Amino acid sequence: FGQHFSTQEQTPQICVVGSGPAGFYTAQHLLKHHSRAHVDIYEKQLVPFGLVRFGVAPDHPEVKNVINTFTQTARSDRCAFYGNVEVGRDVTVQELRDAYHAVVLSYGAEDHQALDIPGEELPGVFSARAFVGWYNGLPENRELAPDLSCDTAVILGQGNVALDVARILLTPPDHLEKTDITEAALGALRQSRVKTVWIVGRRGPLQVAFTIKELREMIQLPGTRPMLDPADFLGLQDRIKEAARPRKRLMELLLRTATEKPGVEEAARRASASRAWGLRFFRSPQQVLPSPDGRRVAGIRLAVTRLEGIGEATRAVPTGDVEDLPCGLVLSSIGYKSRPIDPSVPFDPKLGVVPNMEGRVVDVPGLYCSGWVKRGPTGVITTTMTDSFLTGQILLQDLKAGHLPSGPRPGSAFIKALLDSRGVWPVSFSDWEKLDAEEVSRGQASGKPREKLLDPQEMLRLLGH
Ligand SMILES: Cc1cc2nc3c(=O)[nH]c(=O)nc-3n(C[C@H](O)[C@H](O)[C@H](O)COP(=O)(O)OP(=O)(O)OC[C@H]3O[C@@H](n4cnc5c(N)ncnc54)[C@H](O)[C@@H]3O)c2cc1C
Repeated sequence: FGQHFSTQEQTPQICVVGSGPAGFYTAQHLLKHHSRAHVDIYEKQLVPFGLVRFGVAPDHPEVKNVINTFTQTARSDRCAFYGNVEVGRDVTVQELRDAYHAVVLSYGAEDHQALDIPGEELPGVFSARAFVGWYNGLPENRELAPDLSCDTAVILGQGNVALDVARILLTPPDHLEKTDITEAALGALRQSRVKTVWIVGRRGPLQVAFTIKELREMIQLPGTRPMLDPADFLGLQDRIKEAARPRKRLMELLLRTATEKPGVEEAARRASASRAWGLRFFRSPQQVLPSPDGRRVAGIRLAVTRLEGIGEATRAVPTGDVEDLPCGLVLSSIGYKSRPIDPSVPFDPKLGVVPNMEGRVVDVPGLYCSGWVKRGPTGVITTTMTDSFLTGQILLQDLKAGHLPSGPRPGSAFIKALLDSRGVWPVSFSDWEKLDAEEVSRGQASGKPREKLLDPQEMLRLLGH
């Protein structure tokens, strides 16, 4: 009775590490389902919202509307934001566990999967995530300055991020003018001479990882035409018919585009296109080929693969044949993984996640996780939302059952003093709202939703930090 009583009466102090969708949806659930719970969200960037700001493409503004809900959550008097605080560096997870009743790790999956092939370090080879961060205003990518003077770009991987990057490379720059793309990236895209984008996958059409919305946008992208080889779809008709519904619609769209003769209007549109995108299947990157002077990328050697095994376990194995594809830009988008941020937290290097049982970090009472650090870097924002609500729910269950430390906890009162003693100045949510207003006002002149601030020093100066 005592324990149950105390957890009901006390003010649960909960800490969330990371202010992306997972962090905000976890906080939302906790605040909604416990009337006294207090949630502090820590974030290493100066600004909140994670990949909604730095990942989601600028020409997908509707996806960013979730920011309004997060803003409501943050404005609750039982929620606080501490930006500019890198957990594992400025404050340890152990210190957070001492200060709070529970700690939720929601710090996403920031590391990109390396290609691990010769020539990977040549200028002109980038991770797609860095390229995305560049046009989305992630401060650490602002100097990326990719050389877009070549004709052909190759993207490795066939997920939605690959299509995002291909779409941004081929969209007529004027169509991006009124988005929140950084002015610097838009300027570079205006000078771009990239006309051909190949999106290369190790496996076949049945294994593509993108979704129908992104594919349809690609097929209809103004000024472009698709390059799909009907031979890649031979004998697939029956397999497509058997596929589950969402998969089936996606595959049918691909098959139609690849094998059906376009109508008069569409044929004319394609004939007048000045840019093209295509899908290459059964090719895995073997080596990045240097230019004659060895100074940058000039192409990529792809190993021809064939599929072995069936269903989920299908693997691509090299046949021994290779193909050289000339290109001046290589973007790898073959997946991500989380990184360990604190030695006190267990980590699964193979899966690239924090090991957990439905959100409870294994062997660490009071420690939870949600989002990409929990499930791995797949899933759209709604997937992350559902998953984060589940973590919030399990945490509240444990609280109710008395499995969390009882008695009062100091929460931010302790951590603030600690950060202060270390010379770390957190950014509050109302600080962010000042930066937000500044970005919005800088966008006004050019008719953009905002002009993102890219220089951390300037941002801190604006806040009087
Ligand atoms: C390029 C790209 C485009 C996408 N486009 C879409 C789309 O159009 N629609 C859609 O539904 N989904 C999209 N997604 C997927 C969506 O972004 C994810 O489902 C979602 O962001 C995952 O949420 P998360 O909170 O786990 O991770 P994140 O959004 O990555 O948030 C993690 C946060 O933790 C912070 N952090 C990291 N380390 C620390 C630390 N040590 N201390 C403090 N804070 C830390 C990070 O700075 C970040 O703010 C896209 C993903 C990418 C990569």
